[in-house]
Amino acid sequence: MGNGLDALHLALLALGVGPGDEVIVPSNTFIATWLAVTRCGANVVPVEPEESTYNIDPDRIEAALTRRTKVIIPVHLYGQPADMDPIVEVARRNGVKVLDDCAQAHGARYLRRAVGSLADVSAWSFYPGKNLGAFGDAGAITTNDSRIAERVRMLGNYGSKLKYRNEVKGLNSRLDEIQAAVLDAKLLRLDLNIEMRRSIAARFLEGLDGLNLGLPKIPGYADCAWHLFVVRHPRREALQEHLAHAGVECLIHYPTPPHLQPAYIDLSWHRGTFPISESIHDEVLSLPLWPGMSDHQVCHVLDAVRDVCGRLERLP
Ligand SMILES: *Cc1c(COP(=O)(O)O)cnc(C)c1O
Repeated sequence: MGNGLDALHLALLALGVGPGDEVIVPSNTFIATWLAVTRCGANVVPVEPEESTYNIDPDRIEAALTRRTKVIIPVHLYGQPADMDPIVEVARRNGVKVLDDCAQAHGARYLRRAVGSLADVSAWSFYPGKNLGAFGDAGAITTNDSRIAERVRMLGNYGSKLKYRNEVKGLNSRLDEIQAAVLDAKLLRLDLNIEMRRSIAARFLEGLDGLNLGLPKIPGYADCAWHLFVVRHPRREALQEHLAHAGVECLIHYPTPPHLQPAYIDLSWHRGTFPISESIHDEVLSLPLWPGMSDHQVCHVLDAVRDVCGRLERLP
């Protein structure tokens, strides 16, 4: 596919999602998950996350299902696998499909099984900033269902299986060959890169323990791929500013949840509609973490965060 949004979109089209259908999405995700649904003319039905993992709460899914629900889209946010077994179970019981958004989770495992092999179909992005990134835009889907694979190939190729015979009004979303060559080479280093991310994350978890700072919580089922190392603090902006002064640049993933974006003003959701997601968006901050980060850089981040957290506690 040309990119991750197209991968999600084509997977939904292949699953037969269209106008009037409902798709369950996390209230707490990057907006692309929602855009893929609304691009099909279908309606998003957001479900709140677990406070501990930031991922969709399986226990809240059943109440959100209706006769129009076609698909559930869990997102493995920040590289942490969503709790897939109960999600797949509730989907099976209700005759709906599962499409997981793996854009942030290359290399993550759920109960030792690789994400991308757990749902009916999985969508990937290889945007340069992802765990496996091309030199430009790229995406893919993975599935064990040959009918879905065939439909996605057809839909992404002008709706055509046979040259110049068009079955449906498809679109064009090709993986650029130069990007494919780059990904082929970088794929060999993916496991090593994830290992490096894991060992840096382990040092962060140990070195930041005991501060007034919410640290990532990793459930027993998860081997996290650490796309991002996200902490939580009630004074997130102050923390970010002080860390920037100490030479540690931190980003926010994400400042505004999809339901409060101008793009979704038509849905008339206001502040307070999805409070768990809103409070997460108000408090999260991503510390710098990348494969190959030096020992010195890791220590610098740890020292700076400890120092700033201490100072923020003493300030009024
Ligand atoms: C990056 C991302 C996408 C979209 O991928 P693109 O390649 O940028 O289109 C979708 N979902 C999530 C969770 C992402 O992080």
